Amino acid sequence: EVYADFAATTPMDKEVMEKVFANADEFGNPSSIHKIGKRAKARLEQSRRETAALLNANPAEITFTSGATEANNLAIRGIVSKYEHPHIITTEIEHASVLNTYKSLEDVAEVTYIPATKKGAIDMEAFRDALREDTVLVSIMLVNNETGVMQPLYEIGEMLAEHGAKLHVDAVQAFGHMGVDVKDLGVDLLTLSGHKIYGPKGIGVLYRKNDVVLSPMITGGSQERDRRGGTENSMFIYAMAEAMKKADAERTMRTVKEMQLKEKFLNAMTHAEIPFEVNGDVNQAASHIISIYFPWTEAEFLLTALDMAGIYVSGGSACSAGTVEPSHVLESMYGNDERVKKSVRFSFSHLMEEAEIDTIARALKEIYERLFIES
Ligand code: PMP
Repeated sequence: EVYADFAATTPMDKEVMEKVFANADEFGNPSSIHKIGKRAKARLEQSRRETAALLNANPAEITFTSGATEANNLAIRGIVSKYEHPHIITTEIEHASVLNTYKSLEDVAEVTYIPATKKGAIDMEAFRDALREDTVLVSIMLVNNETGVMQPLYEIGEMLAEHGAKLHVDAVQAFGHMGVDVKDLGVDLLTLSGHKIYGPKGIGVLYRKNDVVLSPMITGGSQERDRRGGTENSMFIYAMAEAMKKADAERTMRTVKEMQLKEKFLNAMTHAEIPFEVNGDVNQAASHIISIYFPWTEAEFLLTALDMAGIYVSGGSACSAGTVEPSHVLESMYGNDERVKKSVRFSFSHLMEEAEIDTIARALKEIYERLFIES
């Protein structure tokens, strides 16, 4: 079996898991005022300091959530609720946790969706045209989860520095693959997810610059400085900070390995004479993700054939309830093109072996030839 779907989720790092188990006796409620509570609180705040340091932020700017979906919701809803019918800019290629949040807010906010170009990055001209004096919030991801293409965040950050609109960045697919420094990027809100960086599922981070006021989405106790009620998931918060520290320490090793795997994959397919094209600009992509257009077959068929061969990847399409919906990302880039239905996402990890790349290329070759001979 070959798993090449690390953008969907990563396995938990064994060392991080061992540390979590070793600390499992620290079960106290961080809000309790006795010593056991205080010890839990101390460890929670230690994790918050470590998380903040890795993003070049202050501990008070970090909120732990149940994942990036909640963090994106909190960032967006927390800002939107402060204004009377505000103007907001986002992009057509955001993750569903951003896109569907805005869709649900269209009654109370005016939302402009910026398309991507064929290179996979957003159309900066369209962005410049969309930016108004009364725009209060801009939501744009750092690395697209389907194509891996990095978005022009530095350019946007610079533009907004003079403007005053808040910048919200989904950095879920970026952390661990490139430097994520909130001051460098000029962001006001930034989100991360545990399970994309070899931490647990169900834990996320929202960075919120100290001058940004957010209304809470989950009301309850005064945890997380009144921004999120509910007893903190202290075990996973600890795991998140440990996973982040390791991802940061190993970043060069991991990205070099991922880039080598990606290059090997492209070379192997070329060598095997499998017709393909890369979606988006390969030179602008993060190290671990690549989206490939196979002109000779539908993605739905290819995913099934690969699955049968024990190779696990993702469509450029999101599968829901057994139906394959065209990818909104590829649609934004290429319009109504057959490419949208014939693309597959491969996402790699430093944990993979080079031989696994050969296995994937061989399986693709076999599927291609089988189709070719049968038809
Ligand atoms: N944003 C992006 C870019 C993602 O890839 C994902 C995970 N698919 C999320 C947000 C949601 O993260 P979580 O699963 O932690 O809610």
